[in-house]
Amino acid sequence: MFNYILRLVGDRVLAEDLTQEVFLRVFQGLPKFSLRCRFTTWLFQVAKNRVLDELRANERRPRSFLALDDLPPLEVLDAPLEQSETIDAVWRAVNELTVDLKMALLLRDVTGLSYTEIADSLRAFVDKGRLERAARIPDSDVEISDEGEEVRARVKDYKVIVDFARKTILHDCEDWSSRLVKREFCKHVGKVFLRMESGRAVERLDRIRGERKLWRFEVPSDS
Ligand SMILES: [Zn+2]
Repeated sequence: MFNYILRLVGDRVLAEDLTQEVFLRVFQGLPKFSLRCRFTTWLFQVAKNRVLDELRANERRPRSFLALDDLPPLEVLDAPLEQSETIDAVWRAVNELTVDLKMALLLRDVTGLSYTEIADSLRAFVDKGRLERAARIPDSDVEISDEGEEVRARVKDYKVIVDFARKTILHDCEDWSSRLVKREFCKHVGKVFLRMESGRAVERLDRIRGERKLWRFEVPSDS
């Protein structure tokens, strides 16, 4: 967490202060923390908000931008020279981004904020309650085989088949039968997308959303 904040603010003392504040906030917020999201996601969300406040306050002051020279040395100290030069160049580029872009990039870097990203796209298909229930299904209850155009999964005792070639989703839980008409997902189908690699899941969800009227949400004929 400290390294994450240090990278963002580029000032050791400030980073120490902010890290302490973040942990204090997290500690105070724990009673309110439900299983809405993964703990790390939430932790970095708290950090992000605090650092953003700080960076924005800084931007309003005259000595506004983060100086590149103040950035800490890169983690990979014993990396080969060209590698560390590449990383250096990446950091230089990152440093030129706006605060928001920087946050987005680093959050993805640090937490692989996949849950949030997919969840945002999933909201077009599931209500909040079902999304929360989907997130609570243990990963170990999901088996997934992803062949590109066809994703076959088993979530607990249910099967889910997402067929992109035929634009069909087959699934067999009770809740699903109430979702079909509106082309919405139950928690099991939501969970299948949460288990995919985030970029892929988001791209596929956007694709289904774009062609929503063409998609058929069905119950397999053999059940
Ligand atoms: Zn279901």
